[in-house]
Amino acid sequence: MSVSWETLELHTAQPFGIARWTHSVYPRTIVTFTQDGIVGRGEAAPNAFYGETHGTVEAVLPLLAEALTDPWDWDGLRAGLTARMPHDHPSVKCALEMAALEWCAVSVGLPVWKLLGLSPAPLPRSSYTVSLADIPDMRRQAREAVAAGHTVLKVKLGTERDTAILEALREEAPKVALRVDANAAWTRPQAKRMLGVLDAARVELLEQPLAADDLAGHAELRRLSRVPLVADESLHHVRDVIALAEAFDGVNLKLAKLGGPLQALAALRLARAHGLSVMIGCMIESSLGISAAAHLAGLCDWADLDGALLLADDPFTGLEWTAGELARPQGVGWGVTRG
Ligand SMILES: [Mg+2]
Repeated sequence: MSVSWETLELHTAQPFGIARWTHSVYPRTIVTFTQDGIVGRGEAAPNAFYGETHGTVEAVLPLLAEALTDPWDWDGLRAGLTARMPHDHPSVKCALEMAALEWCAVSVGLPVWKLLGLSPAPLPRSSYTVSLADIPDMRRQAREAVAAGHTVLKVKLGTERDTAILEALREEAPKVALRVDANAAWTRPQAKRMLGVLDAARVELLEQPLAADDLAGHAELRRLSRVPLVADESLHHVRDVIALAEAFDGVNLKLAKLGGPLQALAALRLARAHGLSVMIGCMIESSLGISAAAHLAGLCDWADLDGALLLADDPFTGLEWTAGELARPQGVGWGVTRG
C-alpha cells in the first residue's frame, strides 16, 4: 500500500481573470493510492482564497496521506484527516478522498457514481466562463464560446465598468443564458445599483455579489432581487450551508473547497433540506477533478464545470463535451486516463 503524488503545472489557454486576480499557471497535485495492484487517483486544486497554495499542499500531504490506510473506510479516512488538520487544506482532503473512492470503484469494476448509488439523470448544461478582461477581449471570449456551441455563459464581474461589460456581452450573445459571478467584489450600494442592470440583461443567476462574511447584506439584497443569489465564497464547510439558507437562494458546491465528493454530497443533502438550489462548480483543474464533480452533477440544478476546458494542457482525457454539454463520465473509476 502506498500514497504518492506529483505536482503538475497546468496552463490556461488564455489568462484567466476574476475580481481578485488574473493567472495563467495553475499547479495541481495528482495523488495516487496503490494497493494490490489497483490504483485510485485524486486531484488537489488549491485556491488561495481558502488558504491553500501548491506549497501548503505539498507541505501537508505527508501528514494527511497517513490517514488513507483502508480505502473502504470512508468514515475512518474523514476522521483521520480531521484529527490531523481539523479545518484547513480542503483540496488535499479532496484528493485523498477521491483516490480512496476510485480505488474502491476500480476494485469492483464500477464507475464511482454507481459505487455511490448516485442518480443516472442527465447532467445540467455547464456554463462556460467569460473571464474578466477589457471589454473587446470579453466580447471575443463570448463570441468564440457561442461559436463553439456554448449556450450558458458565466461572466466574471467586480469592477467599476460592470454595467458596460454586461451590456456589451448581452449584445454580443443575445440568445445565451447569462450568469454573473462578482466574486465577492461588490459593495452593498453597488450591488443594489446592479440589480436593474442584471434584470435588463436577463441574467439567470448572480453568484456571490458581496463579501463572504456579509450574510446580512446578502439577505437584504435577496429581498430586493428578482435574480437568484448563489453563495460561493461564503461556503467553505458543510456546516456553513445552514446559515446561508436565509441569505441565498442557492449554493455553489466545489469539491476542492469542501474537502471531497462525500463532503460535497453531505452539503448537497443539507442544502436540499434547507430549500436551497444547488450548483456544482469547480476550480481551474484537470479533467480528473472535473470528472469527480461531474459525477454529482446529475443531482444539481446548475453546473459550472468548465475548469478543464479552459486549459491548454489538460493531462487527462475521457470526458466528452458536445457543444458545451458534458456527458456523464463513462468507464470504471473516475473514467479519465492520463496522457
Ligand atoms: Mg464563483
